[in-house]
Amino acid sequence: MNVLAEAITALRKARHVAVFTGAGISAESGIPTFRDRLTGLWARHDPERLETAKAFKEHPQLVWGWYLWRRQQVLQAQPNPAHLAIARLADVGRENTVITQNIDDLHERAGSQGVVHLHGSLLTPKCFACHRPAELTQEQLATPAEGALIEPPRCARCNGRLRPGVVWFGEDLPAGAWKAATQAARSCDVMLSIGTSGVVMPAARLPDLALAAGATIIHVNRVDVRLHQPKELMLIGLAGQLVPHLIDLMLAG
Ligand code: NAD
Repeated sequence: MNVLAEAITALRKARHVAVFTGAGISAESGIPTFRDRLTGLWARHDPERLETAKAFKEHPQLVWGWYLWRRQQVLQAQPNPAHLAIARLADVGRENTVITQNIDDLHERAGSQGVVHLHGSLLTPKCFACHRPAELTQEQLATPAEGALIEPPRCARCNGRLRPGVVWFGEDLPAGAWKAATQAARSCDVMLSIGTSGVVMPAARLPDLALAAGATIIHVNRVDVRLHQPKELMLIGLAGQLVPHLIDLMLAG
């Protein structure tokens, strides 16, 4: 049996399918991944160095400008066929959990419900000091020129600076999201892991947890990201093409 046929068989037999996504699933919607080379003024910056509390403390205007720009990219993007195909998995009457490392809302806009966001969301700012969620005015949301320095708005309660509601490097994942994700990893029969390099911890442990609990992992990626365990299937190609194909074939059976 070839790998695609094995993947379809595993999906058809599964009672619980967990879908685990990374930045690669949104790449075909026009949102760059971490590994993509940035263009324009942001090319001077390493995204990983902008995504820490230390960077925000030292350069709040730079980091806030970077997130406003990324937020605009997300709002202009549309879900692609991979996001849409994943939403169709919920219609087949078996347990399905969507876990994402992404900070965009493309799974929700494609129709997936109850998405577990391990790294928060670009669209929900909060206070850096008191952590309360905050609303931004239209004026505060105006898209800056690429690379612009923008002073973050202030919290209405404590006057702290507002920050994006995402999990930065070195910060803990939201406890509820991590619990839901590990429970799904331990109880699923198949984990469909799409567009993730598997290097950002602790999220990257989820496929290991699923494998240890006996699940099959189906990776979909442009490159081979196998962990070299027995129950892994690797589909190499673009998520926007492979995922709809896989789910069409699964549902046709
Ligand atoms: P990553 O950038 O480390 O890796 C992306 C992976 O996707 C790579 O393995 C790459 O080969 C693969 N890929 C790229 N294009 C693809 C395509 N069209 N089809 C299939 N695979 C493709 O991303 P990560 O593993 O998610 O981890 C990095 C962190 O980046 C996460 O914490 C996430 O929060 C953050 N991030 C999120 C977004 C977003 O929300 N869309 C964008 C950039 C970074």
